[in-house]
Amino acid sequence: MAARPLLEVRDLEAWYGESHVLHGVTLSVGEGETVTLIGRNGAGKTTTLRAIVGILRKRKGVIRLGDRDLMALAAHRVARAGLGYVPEERGIFASLNVEENLLLPPHVADGGMSVEDIYRLFPNLLERRKSPGTKLSGGEQQMLAIARILRTGARVLLLDEPTEGLAPVIVQRIGEVIRTLKSLGYTILLVEQNFRFAAKLADRFYVMEDGKVIDGFRADELSAKSEVLHAYLGV
Ligand code: ATP
Repeated sequence: MAARPLLEVRDLEAWYGESHVLHGVTLSVGEGETVTLIGRNGAGKTTTLRAIVGILRKRKGVIRLGDRDLMALAAHRVARAGLGYVPEERGIFASLNVEENLLLPPHVADGGMSVEDIYRLFPNLLERRKSPGTKLSGGEQQMLAIARILRTGARVLLLDEPTEGLAPVIVQRIGEVIRTLKSLGYTILLVEQNFRFAAKLADRFYVMEDGKVIDGFRADELSAKSEVLHAYLGV
């Protein structure tokens, strides 16, 4: 693990209305690390990301980004602090074309990638730059969603199931993009059901079950964890 945790979550609880969904999630991500959150459907992975970025407000516990206390910040301020969230539903503007989406990122901070840099990283977005969001394939939408977050200057990326519903060749391409981002020093917290995909990228894993983190291990401990993985993920 990297020397110091950049993102630190401790004893996080969260509710949807009266429904208590997270029961004390503790995890950390070091600077430059790629960490994957795995677990069955409904384990609370998406809720954890939504609570971290402050979209889900009914929560308690500790969330820190470096020296900053994120619990005190509204979602747009969390984004400005450098935390970028790519939700499962992607959140691009369907009526705008690729380039317009890239020129309208939410909350651009210092250090956001230029549109030229984005096109270097995603050559297919350059080819499709005049295509409206409605005409993009699932993979192109996913890449555009990641690209928009890179435009904001976020250095910590929270990616919710980026491979969901995508063809294997596109999954591979998304994997290459994440690897490149990792080599550029981005810190990544990834939620993934596709364990094979995650296993090739992650430095560490956390397993979630019933709104809690029940296990955590490094990539080099994977083989020793096959029973846990089989029990909780069926892999
Ligand atoms: P999945 O892979 O299916 O998205 P997950 O691990 O991300 O699973 P969450 O989406 O975080 O799980 O869901 C955790 C629990 O919270 C589940 O019991 C789910 O039914 C519940 N839940 C999720 N969204 C809401 C909501 N908007 N209102 C009420 N309950 C919700």
